[in-house]
Amino acid sequence: MSTTTTLTPGAFELNDVQQQILNEAERFSREQLLPLAQKMDDTEECPDDLFDLFARHGYLGITIPEEYGGQGLGLFEQGLICQAMGKYNASAMLTWGAHDNLCANNIYRNANDDIKQRYLPGMCNGSIIGALGLTEPGAGSDALGSMATTAVQDGDEYILNGAKTYITNGPIADIVLVYAKTDLAAGHRGITAFVLETDTPGFAVAQKLSKMGYRGSPTAELVFDDCRVPAANIVGELNGGVGVVMSGLDVERIFLAPAAVGMAERCLELSMEHATTRKQFDKPIIDFQAIEFKLADMWIGVELAKAYTYRILAMCAEADESDAGHGAIHAHSAAAILYATKMMREVADESVQVHGGAGYMWEMEINRLYRDAKLLEIGAGTQEVRRGIVGKYLRGTMG
Ligand SMILES: Cc1cc2nc3c(=O)[nH]c(=O)nc-3n(C[C@H](O)[C@H](O)[C@H](O)COP(=O)(O)OP(=O)(O)OC[C@H]3O[C@@H](n4cnc5c(N)ncnc54)[C@H](O)[C@@H]3O)c2cc1C
Repeated sequence: MSTTTTLTPGAFELNDVQQQILNEAERFSREQLLPLAQKMDDTEECPDDLFDLFARHGYLGITIPEEYGGQGLGLFEQGLICQAMGKYNASAMLTWGAHDNLCANNIYRNANDDIKQRYLPGMCNGSIIGALGLTEPGAGSDALGSMATTAVQDGDEYILNGAKTYITNGPIADIVLVYAKTDLAAGHRGITAFVLETDTPGFAVAQKLSKMGYRGSPTAELVFDDCRVPAANIVGELNGGVGVVMSGLDVERIFLAPAAVGMAERCLELSMEHATTRKQFDKPIIDFQAIEFKLADMWIGVELAKAYTYRILAMCAEADESDAGHGAIHAHSAAAILYATKMMREVADESVQVHGGAGYMWEMEINRLYRDAKLLEIGAGTQEVRRGIVGKYLRGTMG
């Protein structure tokens, strides 16, 4: 049996327009986001005007059509921007990504026009900040099977009770795309997605969480205590949340894989800079083959991950909803983020080694990248879950 897909594999090289988008996003990230990174890491806050900054430079609503105020670009372009932001300020990238991809893009792909009209223009001009609430204290890798948050119908409203945790943008979000059980007896088939406005009585940020990395991207535990959401805020079908989650996860994984590529590129840049300027035994340390080989291996890792990431990003950008959540898209998006994030963690580790003691100092950019590196092996489904998806696909196609 073949493991090939009927979808077009996609380009290995960027075309001129894509290259221009990447170059421009890199310039924006280097000039506007990099100077914010140290303070964001130190204070565990993102600046109040971060979303204004994104909006002013045209980085909100990347995949949202112009009729809703967006940029009308595709998933591939959004991934390139993610790569550029990840390279220079991973915290800003994560906060932007949770808003623009996990929340806005999910709403655009799954909600009815009334919901799109009410929320997307604000999300595209920065006046509404979004988050996605799936994970719960007792439901992580088994987010669907162990979900305990409930939404019980009362007239034309649903009453939400429960908690979500590790939610990116939780402390600053105006809306949360939240998942809750609407049919307790129906298992995975009894979950529904809602847009919840965070000024709704009964909603609270239980605690802001302090993290090892991505410290400038605020994360929270959220609670819902008899929180009333209009039935008109259901995204997709009642009890159809599993489709929204599964297609959204594939998109989220392939969207985040380029961030790992960008972060690894930055590690390599910083390591090259250090290795050519730092002298020991009267010569730059790059002249020691032990260091030169580390740099060579980093470059190879970046190039391999980039090629696979771009290929699968292009494949996912062409796919429609029916392709997601199963088959080749599901396996390749899991494999691409697995590979890119493992590479990124290894490159960050070797980069700190190249920097010696300087790399161990908290305020060094390479130190921040090292601390940031680990998250992408955990969030959007762990490496183990991703490997399980690939293994299941292989058994289905080759077994
Ligand atoms: C900084 C940060 C930001 C996040 N942002 C968001 C967000 O915006 N929205 C959101 O909904 N969630 C978010 N998450 C949650 C994230 O998606 C989960 O942390 C992740 O899915 C893993 O769940 P868990 O932490 O409960 O780990 P667990 O599920 O408890 O896993 C613990 C370990 O057991 C392993 N394991 C579990 N089940 C299996 C299995 N079947 N086979 C093999 N190994 C297994 C895991 O791989 C892992 O190694 C965020 C997390 C972090 C840390």
